[in-house]
Amino acid sequence: MQKKAPFTIVTKTAALSGAAHGQRAKCIQRLIRLDMPVPHTVALGFDVVHKIANGTAFDLTELLAGFGADPLVSVRPSPEYQEWGGPSTVLDVGMNDALLVSLSEAIGSEAARSIYLRFIVSFAVDVARLDPELFDDVDNSREGLLSALDIYQEEMDEPFPQDPAEQLATVLRSMARAWEGPSARLLRQSRGAPVDAGLGLVVQRMALGLGAPESGSGVIQFVSSETGHPQITGRYLSQSQGREALAKPAQALYLERDTRGLSLEEVCPEGFAELQALSDILRTGLREEMQIEFALDAGKLSVLDAVKVPRAPRAAVRIAVSLAESGVITKEDALLRIEPRALPELLHRQVDMAAPRDVIARGMAASPGAATGVLVFSAAAAQAAAAQDTPCILVRPETAPEDIRGMHAAAAVMTQKGGMTSHAAVIARGLGKPCIVGTSGAAIDVKAKQMTLPGGRVFAAGDTVTLDGTAGECLAGEVPLIEPSLDGSFRTLMAWADQARDIGIRVNADTPADAEVARRFDADGIGLCRTEHMFFDEDRLTVMHEMIFAETAEARAAALERLLPMQRADFGSLFEIMRGKPVCIRLFDPPLHEFLPTSREGVFGLAEALDLSVSTVSQRIEALSEYNPMLGMRGVRLGIAMPEIYDMQARAIFEATLDASLRGAIITPEIMLPLVSARREVELIKSNIDAVAAAVRTERGVRFNYRLGVMVETPRAALKAGEIAEITDFLSFGTNDLTQMTYGLSRDDAGRFMGSYVQQGVFSEDPFHTLDADGVGELLNIAADRGRATRSDLTLSICGEHGGDPDSIDFCRKARFTYVSCSPFRVPVARMAAAHLALTDVPMEKKPRRFNILGRVLRSGS
Ligand code: PEP
Ligand code: MG
Repeated sequence: MQKKAPFTIVTKTAALSGAAHGQRAKCIQRLIRLDMPVPHTVALGFDVVHKIANGTAFDLTELLAGFGADPLVSVRPSPEYQEWGGPSTVLDVGMNDALLVSLSEAIGSEAARSIYLRFIVSFAVDVARLDPELFDDVDNSREGLLSALDIYQEEMDEPFPQDPAEQLATVLRSMARAWEGPSARLLRQSRGAPVDAGLGLVVQRMALGLGAPESGSGVIQFVSSETGHPQITGRYLSQSQGREALAKPAQALYLERDTRGLSLEEVCPEGFAELQALSDILRTGLREEMQIEFALDAGKLSVLDAVKVPRAPRAAVRIAVSLAESGVITKEDALLRIEPRALPELLHRQVDMAAPRDVIARGMAASPGAATGVLVFSAAAAQAAAAQDTPCILVRPETAPEDIRGMHAAAAVMTQKGGMTSHAAVIARGLGKPCIVGTSGAAIDVKAKQMTLPGGRVFAAGDTVTLDGTAGECLAGEVPLIEPSLDGSFRTLMAWADQARDIGIRVNADTPADAEVARRFDADGIGLCRTEHMFFDEDRLTVMHEMIFAETAEARAAALERLLPMQRADFGSLFEIMRGKPVCIRLFDPPLHEFLPTSREGVFGLAEALDLSVSTVSQRIEALSEYNPMLGMRGVRLGIAMPEIYDMQARAIFEATLDASLRGAIITPEIMLPLVSARREVELIKSNIDAVAAAVRTERGVRFNYRLGVMVETPRAALKAGEIAEITDFLSFGTNDLTQMTYGLSRDDAGRFMGSYVQQGVFSEDPFHTLDADGVGELLNIAADRGRATRSDLTLSICGEHGGDPDSIDFCRKARFTYVSCSPFRVPVARMAAAHLALTDVPMEKKPRRFNILGRVLRSGS
């Protein structure tokens, strides 16, 4: 026995909710509340649709009665969030032989036939799941219509259903079941929907869009989906454009103007003006830019539906800022409508979404953006290409410090090995260059200067490719790119983010160029300057080599004496660019052998430059090599074994500070020691640096202070943070090394199996990308507690790559760190993420529901 269908007529006061009937039903109610001319609409809730999917049959007589004697309705999906998708809309339900006759009298037989034909094809394909090709040869003639009915009967073994209630029941069941099918479920889960997400359905009287003086149907929006600027966009299909087009609406889309070259404004100025006025009402009433679906029936306008204007990230920013500036929403709302992770798309070139993609290699998306160039397989080749203004993509098995100049020269970088904090990934992010690491599939042969794909396809040096660092894919050939945009709206929004956030965002900047980017992105200071990157320029590398090859402390000091003015100039320009904002300089960190050549030609060149025998150079290189350099003589260990290096750096910092103060900048430099594991290390270096400071004070006759800090990047330093904090002003967590050492997992090799580890749930995320709050985070909390216990004003921060990751920033904010420090191009993302965290960090009971630009819930609550 059939039950009576429980349904809700959508009126201003009907009890409807997005959580029970879906976003579309709720939105239509809002349109009605705003007095929009919406045709009669009925909503079916999630529970009813679920029962229909499970085979419950409902009596639809009463529901259909509301649509008159000859009901003609559309059925649309209404999931809780538009982005979760849903089955296709079915139009013209109720159309049958009898209605064909009466409609033919009202609007002409051709128009009536096209409606019937459209319904038969849609019912056959979307509901009965017949192949669309079956209807390819069917036209809008009388014979064509009869043949469509015959095809249906032949395929289905029954005549096309004539009873509107039966048609509607079949359509509802088909849509309900489609929603519960595995592929639809997987798709919506990938878009953030829960496993048990429900579907509502909306049944609405069809506005036919037929009859003189002007009839038709379409969608319209008054802002651009690409830029967010005012622009009329949409499609309108006038009845006068012919029935053929009406039967296949998708083929008749056009922007602004119809196929006669007429715009809606020209064919129906009143209808257009009315739509413009309605759009203004929607903008303020729904606090959104809406795309309106409408129909004109003999000049009379109906609003069928409205959805948020689909938008690219740059348009989302412009729309949010414009709504806030016109007082429609608050600044806070504007901020919360922009997903921080969407911002990189604004800062870098991107591959055009519509472009064809011939993917030749896949890897980890280590640094976003896209670039096209010719393949090169060595840093030297990258520099040679740059010298000829030829953009190139540097491909290496992995990169080392000696590749840095090649990376500067390349448009993008790809490495076969490595993870999210490998050398290539960290440097590329700092440079703002697209980068993919840990590529699988393509076998790179540096000697032969080529890479071979699994199918045997070969790409050689000089071949053009496009590297998409956002997607983690390398594409064959030149692919259209979209330029970045940092317009006024972006700056306005970022300024609002700064007002909202309550944690500092500094930048990891090693060079004046990095610092310039940092200032452009309004970082609060430099949180990490990796000084070793300053030594890779040609002129400095030679002096570095002299220093490394020095036999005695005096000879070493002489080489360092030559490096001193260079370092002083480096720090001076950082201070100048940052204009009084704090600058934290980390003393030399890597093992010395990283500065030495690995190739035979390199060794010969070095012997020549230093006027030494090849065997002496080789022996020295051999002597410096270590079994495990990452755990060997690097960081503070080098500073203790060869104190002249840190002495020179400290002097350069202090002298640059005093020079800057002569130019009016008041600076208290911050000096940070890498790879500390014991308090005694800090004591030794501190007394050396204090001595340098005293000497500079005496020489210059000027007083100054400095702050000393320790990078907590060994587990022992975290455990001993209490005693280390007694003699330091700040602790900065180097979470790249700390993650590496806590897991016992090489940051340069993790890429090889990280994918399968995450896939199999061993790690929920790549811990080099998102801070492992459970394990590494526990060490951070222990260190923070112990450090604060001895020194309540201790400054705490992180400067590993995690500093730019929103989830990791959440952790640092909760742990009450003073700031996070991240790569220059991640600064805007970090500023926005910090603002979101501050704005959404209110007691649960006070939290309203918030949605991001994709409509996903940012926070839930009552
Ligand atoms: C770290 O280890 O987290 C860090 C910032 O230092 P680096 O990446 O230079 O080793
Ligand atoms: Mg480190």
